[in-house]
Amino acid sequence: MTVGVLGAGQLGRMLALAGYPLGLDFLFLDREPGTPSHQVAPSLFGSFTDPALLDEIASRSEVVTFDWENVPAEALERLAQRTRIAPPPLALATAQDRLLEKELFARLKVPTNRNRAVDSLADLRRAAAEIGLPGVLKTRRLGYDGKGQQVIRGDKDIESAWQALGNSPLLYEAMVPFDYEVSAIGVRSRSGEFRMYPLNRNLHQGGILRLTRAPWKSAALEAAARRTLKRVMEHFDYVGVLAIEFFVQRGRLLANEMAPRVHNSGHWTIEGAITSQFENHLRAICGMPLGDTAARGHSGMLNLIGAMPQREWLLGQAGLHLHDYGKSPRPGRKLGHVTFVETTARAADLRANRLLRRIESL
Ligand code: AMP
Repeated sequence: MTVGVLGAGQLGRMLALAGYPLGLDFLFLDREPGTPSHQVAPSLFGSFTDPALLDEIASRSEVVTFDWENVPAEALERLAQRTRIAPPPLALATAQDRLLEKELFARLKVPTNRNRAVDSLADLRRAAAEIGLPGVLKTRRLGYDGKGQQVIRGDKDIESAWQALGNSPLLYEAMVPFDYEVSAIGVRSRSGEFRMYPLNRNLHQGGILRLTRAPWKSAALEAAARRTLKRVMEHFDYVGVLAIEFFVQRGRLLANEMAPRVHNSGHWTIEGAITSQFENHLRAICGMPLGDTAARGHSGMLNLIGAMPQREWLLGQAGLHLHDYGKSPRPGRKLGHVTFVETTARAADLRANRLLRRIESL
């Protein structure tokens, strides 16, 4: 069975690496060669809206999925007439637009932070007055890893934030004085079977995920996250893996955003769970039974960002697993990650903190 994948980044690469043992084949589509997935699987190159390329991937794949959130909606519409697509294009279209995402959370009664659409400087002034300061102005589309965001701390920042982002549709939202951040990753099969991984506790730096620790044991938060994931997945009749990122404030979850795909905060599941998020995504979209999502121990995952630390040092650390995405270094770019599994939560916390300090100094 061949799985077509739109976007050929590191998520696609890890999907392919998880799929080969299941006997799956892959065909990627991306704009240019040399991407992380292209290094491990056959790929087509060109525009995501090229009808000939889309028809080729549709005719050669039993199911098409995506590893990139900004795949144009029209590409999925064309594919949907020719082959099976999972997750549902509507879930992707919703996640592509922060306003649609917030409206979905409101409709499904998922608590989220206060927000307003902003299309003019006057709108922004009104939103800041109604919702209050500080706040964050974000582009509705095409933002990732903290890009397309401006923090507005006082009235004096309003004009410059508008100057920086004002040529796209925007969303203003309250700055959340969160205690910490978590994410929940679930998987749903074609027949509606649902499983959730243990919660992830995430540390972001400069808007980019740096560190994940899992399982983050909190029965109350996990139950709330499970309800939210199920509700969102049932709404879309979802098939595949879905991640939702939350702020935790005074013991309550506030949804920040969702990702209709495998997620960076779930990379620990490759070594740290019975079945990885990548394998479970493939099982779901290929109509296979889902695998066990239980953790094998207490995992940590650190992203390697901007520059690769010395490989010899990393590989010299007992039980540290290196994932190198084969990308060229660039500031702020995710080049790889490392994971480890410990037998106690305390040992995992200590190791994660030590590793973070060490990698920052390398
Ligand atoms: P996002 O692209 O919306 O996921 O934002 C990336 C990161 O920036 C989040 O994980 C938070 O650490 C931070 N952030 C974004 N929006 C807010 C907010 N409204 N309040 C506080 N922190 C935020």
